[in-house]
Parts: sequence; structure tokens; C-alpha cells
Amino acid sequence: MTEPFAYERDPFLRYLETDVVNVGVERGQAFVVLADTILYPEGGGQPADRGGIGGVRVEDVRTVEGQVRHYLTGPPPTGRVRVELDWARRFDHMQQHTGQHLLTAVAEQRFGWHTTAFHLGDQLADIELDTAQIAPEQLAELEEPIAAEVRACRPVTARRVSPEEFAVLPVRTRGLPEGHAGDIRLVEIGGLDLNTCGGTHVRSTAEIEALKLLGTEGMRGGTRLFYVAGGRLRRLLGAHHERNARLRQLVGTSDEELAAGVSAKLEQVKDAQRSIRALEEELGGAVAGALAAGPDRLVDGHWPGRDLAFLQRIAKEVVRLAPDKCVFLTAGEGEQGAFVLSAGEQVQVDLVAAGRKVAEILGGRGGGAGRVFQGKVATLSRRDEALGYLSALP
Ligand SMILES: [Zn+2]
Repeated sequence: MTEPFAYERDPFLRYLETDVVNVGVERGQAFVVLADTILYPEGGGQPADRGGIGGVRVEDVRTVEGQVRHYLTGPPPTGRVRVELDWARRFDHMQQHTGQHLLTAVAEQRFGWHTTAFHLGDQLADIELDTAQIAPEQLAELEEPIAAEVRACRPVTARRVSPEEFAVLPVRTRGLPEGHAGDIRLVEIGGLDLNTCGGTHVRSTAEIEALKLLGTEGMRGGTRLFYVAGGRLRRLLGAHHERNARLRQLVGTSDEELAAGVSAKLEQVKDAQRSIRALEEELGGAVAGALAAGPDRLVDGHWPGRDLAFLQRIAKEVVRLAPDKCVFLTAGEGEQGAFVLSAGEQVQVDLVAAGRKVAEILGGRGGGAGRVFQGKVATLSRRDEALGYLSALP
């Protein structure tokens, strides 16, 4: 039997002095193999640790061809090295992971639901259960006994057993990694659960601190159940509280009325948008009427705060009212501008050619067909020049 690595012997070890036994490169990334390690390689749903080796950052740890490879962000050190573990991240993983053992055990004992997968995400953790549906009241029925087991401070221990011993022990699941040979590692929550696992765990259910179920999601062949445990739960609650405080201030309601308050504000915004659209229609009609009534064959207008849609609406109306007119409209200011060029039915002009020339003068681009040409421009500083060009057209 090979001696297990330090992360397995003592998952609370944060520093280790050891030797580099191999250095290599995989897909352009340097890695080292150590005589012993406190850095857990990805496995069993628990993500790989982060840390440092000889002052060089470790950004991933994986087991490849029987070796634990530590992937580095810098040149690999050699000889005797000090290994450091990103402890805050690891302890969070141990809380979520041990929480999963507890959640899985209680879900199985209370409801007969089997856990088929475990994921530990950046925000939430989840397990997949082989049940088609979980009712909200069942979540409450599940959460309470979990809290009781946390309060019971049940010891969490790990040990290796021989295949013979394994065969006679009441182990919850018997699945082993493909090609597994020799000793089997068991993790036990005293008096509650015994299962195979190669991960890292806290020492007692009390160190999980608390576990909160956060809802479910249907999936093919089962249900995904989200949860958070430990320090993550406190951080999540803190973030929610802070966000709520900010929202309370913005909306001016209590927590309880927040959703209704936001909903009412959104209704107000919708009403306001409807009014704006109606006013724009009215304004557009009035502006188009004034432009159409003027004496000049070429009419023009500019609105700093309007958009292309506004220009199009007015242009369309002007040439409808005055089919003998050509209309050149612009909107915007600074480096965000738009223009529309349109000609009535009685005007003889190659509008697309004229539109392209205007776009060129204004340093923009556009397109059109028939009697309308529109474009976006980078600057309106040469607007007068464009107008001059259009006035000179026959
Ligand atoms: Zn485990």
C-alpha cells in the first residue's frame, strides 16, 4: 500500500515542506510532481485546490497517469520546496462537501432519494437526486433534520479499509472508480453515514456551521437540489442583506413590500414610455407639417437629442404632405449622429447616389432604396457642407 498524501492524512494542514520529484510541461503549461502534497486534485465533485509551491502560484491540480500534477503560473521550482494551501478556499470546499455527505445521508434516510451527482459551483453547490419532484414542504422536512445533525456535532472521520473488510461493512454506495485496486477510503459521519470518498472533510458536523436548501430545478431523470453551507451561507446572507438595504433605499419600501414596490415602479415606467411615444407622434406630426408648409424645395432640420427613428417618421410625413420636396434631417451631437435623406414622388433625383455623397461628407455610412436614404455618422461638423451639396443638385 502506498502512503496517502498529506491532504488525505490531515486535511487541516496548510503548509508542507517536501521535494519536487518531477517537472514537466503539459499543453504548454509547466507542472511539478511532489513527493507529498497538501493540494487536493480535482475529484468526486470537489474542485482542485489553489496555492503555491516555492512561491510560484498553483492554478490547478489534477491526477494524470497516476501522478498528482501541480500546474504552475511561473517557472517550476526544484529541490526542497514549501507548499502553501489557499486555506480559505479549501475550507469552504470542505464545508460544502461535508455538507453534501450530510444532505445526501438525510435525503436517503428520510425520503429514500439517492444522490446521483454532486457539483460544487462558485456560488452554490447542488446534488442531483433520483426523484422526479420535490415539494416545497419536503424541503422544509429535509432541512430541519440536517440542522439537528449539525447541532449534534457528529464526528466526521476517514479511514482506509481492505477490500475484504469493505465487503462486509454497511457502506451506503459501493461504486468505486474504474480500475480501482487495493484499499478503499471510507468517510464516516459517526452514527449516521458510512460511504466511500477520496475528498477532504471537516472534523465534525458542527464545522459545517449550517446548511440552507435553496430550491430545486427539474432535470432529465431527477431533480437538482441547490444548497449552501458554512461561511458561504453567511457571506450569501450578508450580500443579500446589503443588496436589500440598497433596494429599500432606492424603492422606498420595506423588505416585505420590495417586490410590489419594484413592480409598481416598472408599471410607471411603462406608462411613461407610452406617453413619450404618443407625444413623439404628436411632435413629429407638427414638425413635419411645418416643414412641408415652407416655401423651399429642400427642407432640413436638426435635433440633438433625437434618434434615427424620429427622423424617419418626420421625413416620411413631409414627403407625403409635400411630394415636390426633398428633406434632409439630422440628429445627435458629438460623435453619435444620424441622418435621413428623402425625396417626394415629384422630385427627379438619384437619391441613393446623393445619400452616399452626404454620408461621405459626414464621415459615415448608410444605405437606402427608392426615396429614402439613412445613415450613421461620426460627426455633424460638416453638416452645412452636406446641405450645400444638396442645394446645388439640379
Ligand atoms: Zn467526501
